[in-house]
Amino acid sequence: MNIKNTLLRKLPKVDLVLGELLLVNKNKICGAIVKSAIQDTLQSMRQDILAGTLTELPVDQNAWHALFNKAIQEKNSPNLKRVINGTGVVIHTNLGRSLLGPSSINALQNAGAFFTNLEFDISTGKRGSRYSLVEEIICELTGAEAAIVVNNNAAAVLLSLNTLSFNKESIVSRGQLVEIGGSFRIPDVMSRSGAHMVEVGATNRTHLLDYENAITEETGLLLKVHTSNFRVIGFTSEVSAEDLVVLGKKHKVAVMEDLGSGSLMDLSPFGLPKEPTVQEIVSAGVDVVTFSGDKLLGGPQAGIIVGKKDVIERIKRNPMNRALRIDKFTLASLESVLREYYDFDVALESVPTLAMLTADSVFLEKKGRRILRRLGKTCEYKDLIALEKTVSRVGGGAMPEHGLDSWALVLTPGTDGASSLESWFRSLSIPLIVRIENEKVVIDLRTILEDDISELVIILEQYLRREYTG
Ligand SMILES: *Cc1c(COP(=O)(O)O)cnc(C)c1O
Repeated sequence: MNIKNTLLRKLPKVDLVLGELLLVNKNKICGAIVKSAIQDTLQSMRQDILAGTLTELPVDQNAWHALFNKAIQEKNSPNLKRVINGTGVVIHTNLGRSLLGPSSINALQNAGAFFTNLEFDISTGKRGSRYSLVEEIICELTGAEAAIVVNNNAAAVLLSLNTLSFNKESIVSRGQLVEIGGSFRIPDVMSRSGAHMVEVGATNRTHLLDYENAITEETGLLLKVHTSNFRVIGFTSEVSAEDLVVLGKKHKVAVMEDLGSGSLMDLSPFGLPKEPTVQEIVSAGVDVVTFSGDKLLGGPQAGIIVGKKDVIERIKRNPMNRALRIDKFTLASLESVLREYYDFDVALESVPTLAMLTADSVFLEKKGRRILRRLGKTCEYKDLIALEKTVSRVGGGAMPEHGLDSWALVLTPGTDGASSLESWFRSLSIPLIVRIENEKVVIDLRTILEDDISELVIILEQYLRREYTG
């Protein structure tokens, strides 16, 4: 008790420290930020003293200032930071999913810095529609009659269900009632959309007759959902889009498919699993197809809805649409990414998600060697870093079982252990996010960008010099 009181009494007064630090940081950082950082630091020290976890205070004024300055720097740096993705998960939802290439970033900058024809028809001088900016391109690429884009695919599903099945029955297979993550569950979204869910079939098998037997006067929709993030294997069967379309036509009921990732390109020539492309589902005659902009497509967060003209028209007129609408930055970058898809070879190079997914393991091994060579000049690292084979993941709930052959820098930490090294990497000004496997830290080279390499080399040099503490 006595020690705690002594420590508490030794904590400096806010105004005193503020005066000292404002003198040092003159004109560099806003005074309110400096003051608030000092208050936060002292408050958390007070709590730690009372909890008994802080038993020693900084020894002199320099040490105090270093402590406060660190807090000030942190407070003054953006909350949304660049990080280095060493996880090997290409479409990492927590790390922002897809990256944009130079031309999309340029489009974003233009949309931010200048006025645009977002809702202005330049040829007539009258009001225009923001959707028309990308509709034609999407239709050309997918073969669909019409298209609209909204905030994300969750919104696309909600809006489509609400338009086509409000107060009506939607028939869906029990094997497709997926939870995507972030509490997006098909049954919940259906009920929020006003659709009445009618489940058919079994978890592993659903047949065309199951759908047909469930069709009544009240049926508004036959819904198919891509089970993106899980697989049922073994004795399974599901009904194809083609068969559902035939059934829908027979009973005059619309058919919708939520494709989730929605690739425009067959990636199987690059060793990835064959997934149905948007074009294939559209040509099967499905009335509405929904998919994400920032998963396999490699664009910004968006939900793309394509399909038959009359159905898309109804979706466009739904008043909910306004609440889910896409913003100009997304439209600008989405248009730019879509344009790359006119030539698949261009897309493979300039859409970062596609480039990372299709990078072959020889290329990744060479990237690793290049990094090691740069370290070799400064340090003897043999025991501390090794270049080893590993397996990376597609992510984004796509192709969940499929591993991508890759290479990684594998770090063997000393007595501190892998988790303390991992947390030190996270504490850096550009945090490095890694995997831990078998008590080792794994930096998968698939998701290390060219522009990350210099920074990564600096971080690894610090690691090799043991300049981190657990
Ligand atoms: C990812 C996914 C969604 C949600 O898409 P967001 O773009 O993340 O909103 C919906 N349905 C399926 C099948 C998905 O895989």
